[in-house]
Amino acid sequence: MQIIKTVEQWRSWRSGNTHASKSIGFVPTMGALHKGHLSLVERSVKENQINVVSIFLNPTQFNNQSDLQAYPESFETDVAQLERTGVDQLLAPDFNEIYPDNYQYKVIETSLSKQLCGKHRPGHFDGVLSVVLRLLNLVQPDRAYFGEKDYQQYQLVKGMAEAFLLETEIVSCSTVREADGLAFSSRNFRLTPGDRELAPKFYEILSSRLDLEKAVSELVASGFKVDYVEDFKNRRFGAVYLGEVRLIDNVPC
Ligand code: AMP
Repeated sequence: MQIIKTVEQWRSWRSGNTHASKSIGFVPTMGALHKGHLSLVERSVKENQINVVSIFLNPTQFNNQSDLQAYPESFETDVAQLERTGVDQLLAPDFNEIYPDNYQYKVIETSLSKQLCGKHRPGHFDGVLSVVLRLLNLVQPDRAYFGEKDYQQYQLVKGMAEAFLLETEIVSCSTVREADGLAFSSRNFRLTPGDRELAPKFYEILSSRLDLEKAVSELVASGFKVDYVEDFKNRRFGAVYLGEVRLIDNVPC
């Protein structure tokens, strides 16, 4: 696996003609890789001839600076994990490579991005869409893989790809969970042992058949601070805090 840090380096590799006719699969991530990320990578490797992963901790999607500061980073372990997967290129650019304009230009979606998590994290999806558009334009993959754990994000990225006539197919992948039901997330690394024990209750309550009000009061009674729980287009979405750690999840309903 080659590690590429600059746009120039990437473009010179991309324009090489040894792989011109091969399909490219792409998995964008913010690092601190876990089994959820790796499931996307495995799918990409199965479906494409060349596979690219990016690790870029995107500051523009953090509406809360302390969340960004506390976000786990484990670049060397990430590289070691990716080495075992058959990924060809790891893109690990810095801020200036991805934002030569210092984020003067952004993608703003005006409807879905204002709901659910968007309502509670102003500007979050502007940052997500802006970085994903930049990465997709740079990599120009045939397929890009996104997890259903971030279902709203997947929907928005898919909508953006259609709106801006991108040729990349946006592929969704099921949420990967721990044996106790907790969705894998980089933020899980920050949970205290006590909160980690409590965390699977979030999924348990979210996927129970309780009505919304009951589900919220069960979560509160169990010790979660509820950011929101909402039903939207046949799915139940939720975000909760355990201490400073914000967890999100969603299930069909
Ligand atoms: P992140 O590094 O959090 O930006 O996530 C990168 C990609 O991995 C996104 O498409 C996420 O939806 C996906 N992802 C994160 N956690 C999981 C999970 N538990 N199951 C499936 N996909 C996931």
